[in-house]
Order: sequence, then structure tokens, then C-alpha cells
Amino acid sequence: MARSTTKDRLAVEILPERASWNGPLIEVRGLSVRFPTEDGEVKAVDDLTFEVRPNEVLGIVGESGSGKSVTSLAILGLLPKTAEISGEILFCGRNLLDMTEGQLQLLRGRRIAMVFQDSLAALNPVYTVGDQIAEAIKVHDDEIDKDSLRERVIELLNIVGIPNPAARADQYPHEYSGGMRQRAMIAMSIANDPDVLIADEPTTALDVTIQAQVLDTLERVESKTSSAVILITHDLGVVAGVAQRVMVMYAGRSAEIGTVNDVFYEPCHPYTQGLLASLPRIDRRTSERLHRIAGQPPSLVHVPPGCPFHPRCPMAEVPGVCNEERPAMLEVASNHWSACHFAERLMSEVKDRQYGQ
Ligand code: SF4
Repeated sequence: MARSTTKDRLAVEILPERASWNGPLIEVRGLSVRFPTEDGEVKAVDDLTFEVRPNEVLGIVGESGSGKSVTSLAILGLLPKTAEISGEILFCGRNLLDMTEGQLQLLRGRRIAMVFQDSLAALNPVYTVGDQIAEAIKVHDDEIDKDSLRERVIELLNIVGIPNPAARADQYPHEYSGGMRQRAMIAMSIANDPDVLIADEPTTALDVTIQAQVLDTLERVESKTSSAVILITHDLGVVAGVAQRVMVMYAGRSAEIGTVNDVFYEPCHPYTQGLLASLPRIDRRTSERLHRIAGQPPSLVHVPPGCPFHPRCPMAEVPGVCNEERPAMLEVASNHWSACHFAERLMSEVKDRQYGQ
């Protein structure tokens, strides 16, 4: 592994601090990630553009293979060397794709941190949880004294809502419940007060009560630390409860972006509409079958031409514009974007339904 040099340190130190930066913390512009394989090129992410601002939670939603996790690994510079990456990922205005491995090491964990899906696999079973959090602090602050370190560990466990944090710090991961382990992982991720926290499916495999506790923790972290949070999930319900804005991804591209209210109440992409219609609702008759989106997500080696959703889309004009032209992102309302040729028509239909015309 490459070691950070003094030059790397200087390059990272001149990056603006969060308090003095007014723009988006992360700005992804035209990001494409491809993996050459024996079967052909996998287009995991294709011309993706979005931003994350300070003090906001951005939800990224999509089916498996839609490019969500690859996007987050690209931000952290953790993609395998075989990946072909183009575009820009700006962090406080500086392109992460131009940074050396040594510079990225200094940023990871300190300014951009990640909460991984599987907390049991991510925590080391032979060290106490407190020791592992302390280690995450010491990596970026080797001068911290023993008492301050212990105090900080307890404070972090307290922030994420672990009861009796002083005693819990000395316990091993197997002595924690699944939800507590996930919260301990969040504590480790925020140990150095990062500007951006990426949480990749942090509630997968947890029951609903524990899910609620973990999401609560993320909200608390965002409000107490003023970090920006990128929440990656396949669950629209999770996004509805925590995020302010949401990006829906399909086949490595962005299908729709907007505030949670806009996207949930005025969805302007048939894929988002399909996802929302497939959610169970309390006001729906129990005998009614849940809606399902026909077909399967496409192979990322053979992405359909034009709009990648056209083989599954109930509105597709095929043959025609839908299988011939790639739809551009269109702003259908203030800060509400959709990549559908008929986004404006969909918006006026949604409005008509809302106002009963
Ligand atoms: Fe459907 Fe065509 Fe819109 Fe794609 S562009 S979502 S195929 S209507």
C-alpha cells in the first residue's frame, strides 16, 4: 500500500475546511465507470452527475446493479485498478480522481468516511469495540493522549446512542446486538468528524425496530456534526424517513433527482412511479396485489440503446424516440430533474391527478 508523503500531506492540508466552504461538498460530474470482462465491458456507471451539499442527507436508491455502490467506492477511491474511470468527482472543488493514493489515504476516514453494510464482517472480533474506535482516531491523530482518547471513544458511543457507553467500550463485537454493532460502525466512521459520510445499505438485514434506531442515529449524526450524508439503499421507505433529497438510479444512470417530497409526491419518471407503486400502503385494500415492474434490470454489458428502461417501461414509444435517443436530464420543476423524454407530460398528469382534473 502506498504511504502518504509530506507532499501528499501538504496537498490535502490546503483543501478548504468545511466551515469556510460554501459550495457542494461532493460534486460528481459526468462520472463513468467501466470494467473490462471476458464477456465485454460492464458499464457500471454511465455519465452520472449529482452533488451533495453540507448538512444534507442525499438518498441514492436503485435495484441491485444500478451502480449505487460503485459510485460510492469511486468517491472513496476504492475501485479495483482494472476499473476505467472518467469524469470528475470534486471534493471541496478538488478532483479526487486526480489525487494520488497517498492523498486519498489522508482523506479517507478523516474527511470522507464510509459505513459498510455488514458490521459483523467489518469489526474485528478479537479487539474491543472501544479499541477499534480508538484506532480509527489514532490513524489521523497520533498525538492524542490516552485519557482524551478514552473520553472521545465514550463520547462517540454516546452520540450514536449506545447505552452505558463507558462499559460498552470494553466489550467485544459479539457482545453487541446487530443494531448496536451497526451503530458502533457509525461511531467509528464519524470518529474524525468527516465532512461526508457514505452509508451503504446500513439497515440491510436488520429488523424494522433496529432499522429505525440506525436511521435515527444517522439523523442525529447529521444534525450534531453537520456532515453531509450519502445514504445508499434499495428501500424507498428508508429514504423517505431520513433524506432531504433523493436520486433514483437505473442501469448506472440517474433516472430522477429532487427533494424527497417532489420525487415522492410528483414522480416524473416511469421507473420511479413503478417503484413507488410497488410499496405497500396502509390505505390500500389488503386484497389488492402489489404492483410490480415487469421484466428484469438489464445486463450492464448489453445496456439497451436509447433509454435503458424502455424494455420495461409502460409508456415507452418503441420503435421511436425511447429506443433511439438517450433521454437527457430535464428540469421539470425547480431542482427536480428527470431523464425521460416525456417528463413534462408526466408532470402535468401528476398535477392533474393531484388537483382532481
Ligand atoms: Fe419510458 Fe421512454 Fe421515458 Fe424511458 S424515455 S422512461 S422508455 S417513456
